[in-house]
Amino acid sequence: SLSERLDSAFKSLKGEGRITELNIASTVKEIRRALIDADVNYKIAKEFTDKIKDAAVGEKVITAISPGQLMTKIVKDELTQLMGGNEVELNAKGNPAIILIAGLQGSGKTTFSGKLANYLKSKKGFSPMLVAADIYRPAAIDQLKVLGGQIGVDVYSEPENKDAVAIAQNAVKEARTRNKNVLIIDTAGRLAVDEVMMTEVANVKNAVNPQEILFVVDSMTGQDAVNTAKAFNDRLNFSGVVLTKLDGDTRGGAALSIKYTVDKPIKFISSGEKMDTLDVFYPERMAQRILGMGDITTLVEKAQAQYDEAQAKKLEKKIRKNQFDFEDFKQQLDQIKKMGNLKDLMGMIPGVGKAIKDIEISDDAFKGIEAMINSMTPYERANPDSINPSRRTRIAKGSGKELVDVNAFMKQFEQMKSMMKMMNKMPMGRMGGFGKR
Ligand code: GDP
Ligand code: MG
Repeated sequence: SLSERLDSAFKSLKGEGRITELNIASTVKEIRRALIDADVNYKIAKEFTDKIKDAAVGEKVITAISPGQLMTKIVKDELTQLMGGNEVELNAKGNPAIILIAGLQGSGKTTFSGKLANYLKSKKGFSPMLVAADIYRPAAIDQLKVLGGQIGVDVYSEPENKDAVAIAQNAVKEARTRNKNVLIIDTAGRLAVDEVMMTEVANVKNAVNPQEILFVVDSMTGQDAVNTAKAFNDRLNFSGVVLTKLDGDTRGGAALSIKYTVDKPIKFISSGEKMDTLDVFYPERMAQRILGMGDITTLVEKAQAQYDEAQAKKLEKKIRKNQFDFEDFKQQLDQIKKMGNLKDLMGMIPGVGKAIKDIEISDDAFKGIEAMINSMTPYERANPDSINPSRRTRIAKGSGKELVDVNAFMKQFEQMKSMMKMMNKMPMGRMGGFGKR
């Protein structure tokens, strides 16, 4: 990671009292390379590192932290500032509030529209309505309807109408009739910036006067993302940016480049195709992510949101008495599953994201295990020792697995239990255990 590289670049600095221009040169190069690796535009990376140099030169090196850590902090703070400092709230006040979604085809507009509706409905108590204003692809209406159905949000469409402006205007009236207080208008995109698309979105904008115009951009498109953002902003003067496809290990350098180029706040980041994978954009977390520091804060928050103290205490007690059984195991699985996509979660742990980038980790990995536990009787779950060969054969049949799978799973479970036993015997006591903060 960058912080490790900074540490080694700074080896030579140990013993000196302050950071000087001379001993910072190699470090600045490392930072620039890391930014470019994270897809930050070269010119922006250079301007940024020049700034860092100014901020760092003269800083006192103290023994409590390594110079590398100090530099990482300076870089992180500067990056955070550059990306806006603080999160910027969505303006959803209006009768109805109108949110216009714009961007290239395939950038993730329709998916985001669904996620935003879901977010506003389930997290903010709004009553949203989605509008299908992509008049070129009939499938686009169906796509939005499917998403609307999943999240229980009305979708307004006029399949025969080829006038996006009229559809949007009619939708506003309809929203008032149906008492919807926020309207999300999903528009058509093209593969490249073109005049017809821009005119159309601009016309919709002028007709309905939205509170928010959100520009949706695929964070994996790197340098192109910046040019597209500029073209859309010149024409629409949008109010915020949404970065999509920030899945797994995507570093998010586009966030920095776009903010730097168009100076509009990034409001949401989105990853994966599930409707609940939308997050408010926090500049500091993104800075940590770009620097390869891992999105620990998000991970901790997600874990805390799912943390059930009473259950954890009960579990701890059982582990201590070496009574951990299959029912407890299943509850742990459920907890992990509630936290969301397994690979995304693991990707937030520093150092892990890169390692698992090309590995297929599907949530299905759990399914086999779950099936086996489900095929056990309550008595068997509570008494793992009772599961003899004939019971194993029955469990295999019931779960659609082979006997060898059941045997392997039983063995893993036993190993896990003996590890727990060992940890119980350690002088420090329970060593973190399960479900602890
Ligand atoms: P639109 O043409 O801008 O409306 O884009 P869509 O919403 O139809 O998305 C295009 C494709 O990208 C679809 O296959 C989506 O499922 C996928 N997609 C959208 N957002 C994300 C995301 O955040 N992560 C991933 N992995 N895929 C996404
Ligand atoms: Mg679409």
